[in-house]
Amino acid sequence: MSRPLIIRNGVVALPSGPSRSDILCRDGRIVAIGNGLNAPEAEVVNAAALTIGPGFVDVHVHGGGGHSFLTQDQFRIRDYAAWAPRNGVTSFLVSTVGRDAADTVEIFAALRPAIHSTSGAEALGFHLEGPFINPLRHGAFPPAMLRPPVREEFLRFQEAAGGHIRQVTLAPELPLALDLAGAITASGAIPAMGHTDANSEQCRAGFESGIRHVTHLFNAMRPIHQREGGPIVAALLEDAVTCELICDGAHVDPAPLLMAYRILGPHRTVVVTDNLHLAGMHADSGRFAGEDVTVSGGKAAKADGTIVGSVETMDQHFRNTMRFLGISISTAFRLCSTNPARVAGASNRKGQVERGMDADLVLLDGDLQVQMTVCRGEIAFDRRNQTT
Ligand SMILES: [Zn+2]
Repeated sequence: MSRPLIIRNGVVALPSGPSRSDILCRDGRIVAIGNGLNAPEAEVVNAAALTIGPGFVDVHVHGGGGHSFLTQDQFRIRDYAAWAPRNGVTSFLVSTVGRDAADTVEIFAALRPAIHSTSGAEALGFHLEGPFINPLRHGAFPPAMLRPPVREEFLRFQEAAGGHIRQVTLAPELPLALDLAGAITASGAIPAMGHTDANSEQCRAGFESGIRHVTHLFNAMRPIHQREGGPIVAALLEDAVTCELICDGAHVDPAPLLMAYRILGPHRTVVVTDNLHLAGMHADSGRFAGEDVTVSGGKAAKADGTIVGSVETMDQHFRNTMRFLGISISTAFRLCSTNPARVAGASNRKGQVERGMDADLVLLDGDLQVQMTVCRGEIAFDRRNQTT
């Protein structure tokens, strides 16, 4: 067992509001929150100048720091998990897919041992994005990778993944997509609408079949038209669904983000990075799915201008969220930690600073820069130890 950890005198973003308190972590959990806490042998961190919130949970990420999840090498997941705490991320879903069904089965089987066993940020499961999406809204996915929804194929993926697929993005207008949505729910995962050309009626049918989440609202979906609201309007008006927003300022302009947030409110908004492996690398070019991409203004794009993913890390999304949406730091933690933990099916132990929860914490300075990140009671990132 590792030493207990006391984080002393920080402003803690509690579910009930901010409070200056100590936090005592032991055996990976938060065991006490209060003043004047002590424990024998504890390591003590002075957080008097810092704000402490629940570590960020990223449910839509394809890699970062040079580590890509389009791989059959589970150590890429472990490398990412070791890197991600520098951005305040303490848990995540691995968004991945293969070239075809056989490759996808192999990927899930190969990556499965990393789930719940990474040090640093915890891999909570998988997000399958593609192949059951609409070729008309393929975004960065090569159309040759896409296939019609087939329940049996998904069940093979879920079996290979050991039941760890937590989220599946699908287009509800495709034949048999609604049948697939039922199978996804029955397997313990959450069906998410995305990469879709659905009209309002097809969206409603999707919600009735169990779709409860929307993958990067606005991106890779039919835009709003005044006589056919399409997936954006349908999702905003459906109280039962949560919606991902990519808050890098490049995928969606801040004004539509604010419009969406005003409708979604603090319970239904889920901030995601959709990060590529190039995130946090400060590179100006790279490769994605066999194609050259150029990086500028916080986004990576192919030669034809298609955005392939965000390169701004989660801490930047958090700061943008406050700025673009005009929300408090406590609300920003809901959008970047509490709500995504619910989507990942981990809200019983992630996403809030509370006694009994996993000790997943991010410590931010007055400029909202990450100074320290604690993952399950261990200091996984400490800016004081950084040379750059
Ligand atoms: Zn994605």
